[in-house]
Amino acid sequence: MEEIQCWHCGDLFPKSPRHKEQYYCMKPTCRMARKAAWKRKKMKEDPEYRLNQKLSNKKWAEANPGYWKEYRRRNPEKAERNRILQRIRNRRRPRRSQIDARGDPPLIAKVDASISGKIKVVGEFYMVPVIAKVDALKVYIYEIPTPYQ
Ligand SMILES: [Zn+2]
Repeated sequence: MEEIQCWHCGDLFPKSPRHKEQYYCMKPTCRMARKAAWKRKKMKEDPEYRLNQKLSNKKWAEANPGYWKEYRRRNPEKAERNRILQRIRNRRRPRRSQIDARGDPPLIAKVDASISGKIKVVGEFYMVPVIAKVDALKVYIYEIPTPYQ
């Protein structure tokens, strides 16, 4: 029997003759990954599904007040990760109506104050791993004063 490689775990599994579109093995984590991928695709492509999810999430949040505040308190590393990813989303999705005089989009997350003095911060960046589940790395880019160039 022909075997194919699971898109999530990478293990080989027997290809089902009845499910030609099967790309994930039957392990619970891989089934969850398949469902999450399906949902991401659906959220991206189906405006009606997206609206229903938004309304459903809002209804749930109203029925469970304080849940997300408590979640962030219990999981500070996840709250920090979300702040970082929100900054990236802010930069990727400028809204034309809200772009300020400098041409920068408004930011939802607060940014850190820059360091004053002779060495000027050119930018603050996060190196966010795409595949591996590793924390993002904060990187500062400094302008090198002329004598050192
Ligand atoms: Zn798998």
